[in-house]
Amino acid sequence: MKLESLRTILGNDGIVTDPSLNSAYTVDWTRRYKGYTPAVLLPRTTGQVSQIVKWCYENAIALVPQGGNTGMVGGATPVNGELVLSLKRMTAIEEVDDATGQIVTQAGATLGDVQQAASQLGWKYGVDLSARDSASIGGTIATNAGGSQVLRYGNTREQVLSLEAVSGTGDVIGDLRGLPKDNTGYHLPGLLCGSEGTLAVVTRARLRLVKPPEEELSILLGFRSLNEALEIVEEIRKSLDDVQACEIFFHNGLSLVCERFEIIPPWNEQLAAYLLVDIGGQAGLEERISNSPLSAFFNASHFVAYGNDSQSRKKLWQYRDLHTEAISAAGVPHKLDVSLPHGKLNEFCNNVQEVINAIDDQTQSFLFGHAGDGNIHVNILGPDPEDLEVDIAVLKYVASLGGSISAEHGIGRAKAHHLYLNRTPTEINIFQEIKSIFDPAGILNPGTIFPQQEI
Ligand SMILES: Cc1cc2nc3c(=O)[nH]c(=O)nc-3n(C[C@H](O)[C@H](O)[C@H](O)COP(=O)(O)OP(=O)(O)OC[C@H]3O[C@@H](n4cnc5c(N)ncnc54)[C@H](O)[C@@H]3O)c2cc1C
Repeated sequence: MKLESLRTILGNDGIVTDPSLNSAYTVDWTRRYKGYTPAVLLPRTTGQVSQIVKWCYENAIALVPQGGNTGMVGGATPVNGELVLSLKRMTAIEEVDDATGQIVTQAGATLGDVQQAASQLGWKYGVDLSARDSASIGGTIATNAGGSQVLRYGNTREQVLSLEAVSGTGDVIGDLRGLPKDNTGYHLPGLLCGSEGTLAVVTRARLRLVKPPEEELSILLGFRSLNEALEIVEEIRKSLDDVQACEIFFHNGLSLVCERFEIIPPWNEQLAAYLLVDIGGQAGLEERISNSPLSAFFNASHFVAYGNDSQSRKKLWQYRDLHTEAISAAGVPHKLDVSLPHGKLNEFCNNVQEVINAIDDQTQSFLFGHAGDGNIHVNILGPDPEDLEVDIAVLKYVASLGGSISAEHGIGRAKAHHLYLNRTPTEINIFQEIKSIFDPAGILNPGTIFPQQEI
């Protein structure tokens, strides 16, 4: 591959070909996907991205867009020796518009950078997840990231007002106007959110901000049975206004977190399930909670802990936030990120272990997730990375309950062969037709969403 033209576009410091310096870009966060690349490309501007993609298009060379490389489904890994187009140097936050509550940023800025820039001007960005200091805005758009505050503010798609991107031919598309009303044909930002780098490279975005709550409160609840916890999820959603997050985790995940990070568990007694509830709104939260139908439950339970300042809230959140890292430190997990329709979460959580055991009773499974929106992360340790039998059994079970095989992480490479469980052949065909219009040479992230085809 002649990379001299790319060197001309990017300069010597914008292209990394030494494999010893490339390794952070060729292995995914879970370590389940490993690839190789002739070069990592590090543009600084949309113009450079456009020139790179145009060159790849003209030379039929595949590339993988990459942000913070925190994705969970192998979608940013160059498994077949693709070029890596990293947005790591496109980190400028260009504008925080106080009048409209909007922020304009390059795609490589991290979620944490955007949260901080918004908060400095008295605003809040409504997406949060524990990889905030590495995950990029472009990556969160490309995966339509969810996170812990979807209940309140929606997925990333709901935050993106406008975006700029580079299609598979190298053309710059989109705009950054952020008009509140604009029904001029198909909704480009909506289509590119969740497209996982297969339609275009997102280069800049204009995002909606929200006013931060006056007060925030975190409540950790412990339960002796799983069913008790799941019943209360419903009650919490019905009885409390201002719920921002309602997260669930279980005894084995909590033990792993506490052992790995040397943290004292919240209570001495081993409980079956835990809910972490975040509430935020106008001043007077504690009073409103004590007037809600849930106050009797809170008062009667032995297992309630409150966090009402940033330090005590952080302490409670670490039990939940550190799950992904603790599990990853224990092995290379098979990660299944599923969502269940209303009323089926209980059935799923009660039966999924049996489904797993029927295939392999030597695995270790950890469940946790965003209970408030029916999203559970099933992490399975034990099977070889290539052995998908357990994955398929769980995903088929989810589909049989009417759930989604990918709630928020995307399809990536991990689930490309299972898309049919949720999508009809006609729908998959339409998706592929759409891809071929954005990316006629099939150079953008081949093997992601759809199984690999020769280009
Ligand atoms: C500890 C931890 C906690 C997490 N928690 C959550 C969670 O709660 N909710 C959630 O949704 N996810 C979560 N994730 C997953 C991950 O952080 C998100 O998927 C995130 O959106 C990925 O962003 P990234 O910049 O790291 O993307 P990458 O991993 O670099 O890429 C992900 C996908 O997006 C594509 N892509 C990246 N940048 C661009 C771009 N500029 N243009 C076009 N395509 C692009 C890639 O090709 C790939 O397909 C978590 C991950 C970790 C490690």
